[in-house]
Amino acid sequence: MNRLLLLATGGTIAGCADDSATLNDYTAGVLGGDALLAAVPHLQDLATISVEQIASVDSADLLFAHWRALVARIRDAFAADPNLAGVVITHGTNTLEETAWLLQLLIDDPWPVVLVGAMRPATALSADGPLNLLQAVQVALSSEVRGHGVLVVMDGQIHAAQRVTKLATQGVGAFASPGSGALGWVDDVGVHLPVASGSRQVPFADLALPEQWPQVPIVYGCVEPEPLMLNACLNAGVAGLVFTGTGAGQLSAAERSVLQAWPGQRPLMLRANRCGSGPVHSHSEDERLGLLSAGSLNPQKARVLLLLAALAGWDRDQLDALITALP
Ligand code: ASP
Repeated sequence: MNRLLLLATGGTIAGCADDSATLNDYTAGVLGGDALLAAVPHLQDLATISVEQIASVDSADLLFAHWRALVARIRDAFAADPNLAGVVITHGTNTLEETAWLLQLLIDDPWPVVLVGAMRPATALSADGPLNLLQAVQVALSSEVRGHGVLVVMDGQIHAAQRVTKLATQGVGAFASPGSGALGWVDDVGVHLPVASGSRQVPFADLALPEQWPQVPIVYGCVEPEPLMLNACLNAGVAGLVFTGTGAGQLSAAERSVLQAWPGQRPLMLRANRCGSGPVHSHSEDERLGLLSAGSLNPQKARVLLLLAALAGWDRDQLDALITALP
């Protein structure tokens, strides 16, 4: 029988409310991974699954220390057991895409890593967690997914870590991959991945994660933005900064003036956008202001990349080359 590792981190999939009609007012991360597994007896027929609890949190409370533990455990597990078929991670949906993208940049292994969550707590009528978990395991056990990188399985859809995002606050179909669409889908008949995997680069495969992580804030663009945000970040000496620019990643004249007038060394800075879909292209001013386009990465994923780039001591050119090479 195939062996899988289930790493549980909490989230709504492990959440409990006082009654079955309550969908929003519940406590996330109450049930352990063992209980999630026990709720889906079918899983016993599919694989031998060992469970480890990495955290029991709402994913809004996830910490860099949890990311560090997750990465270490996955790297060790694949290194120690060549017959391990894959890793499934249960996770809160709010920041699931950030963890997926982090792992995509760090875990260099052809065997699948699949993240899964739920939009309804485990106590809800029609809770989506059990089926999502079953389908995540189906995907992790499928030979077709090998080489596709880190995947997210929600509501029968299989998404790639780079593009997937949570687009809705309610409803089981809250995830999408703007611009590219889902990679495939999974149902009771099997796993369907119409497109073959391409070659994959894992830029931080050898990066050891320290205890202390750099500061990389996100600044959000709007009408008459407060320059105090940007000044505070620069004065604090942040290692990186993501602008959630308006439109195609536009900064206001006031923000550009702050950058231009900044006398010190500029941090690594990425321009993402708040539209939710579509790329940010480079601009003739970027070099002068120390900016780089984030390409098609959303602001939260641009931040994950900046965190790792700062940890690895990358410069602007290295970061630019990586973003340019992203599909
Ligand atoms: N509050 C939850 C979280 O941990 C939301 C969810 O899991 O759907 O992100």
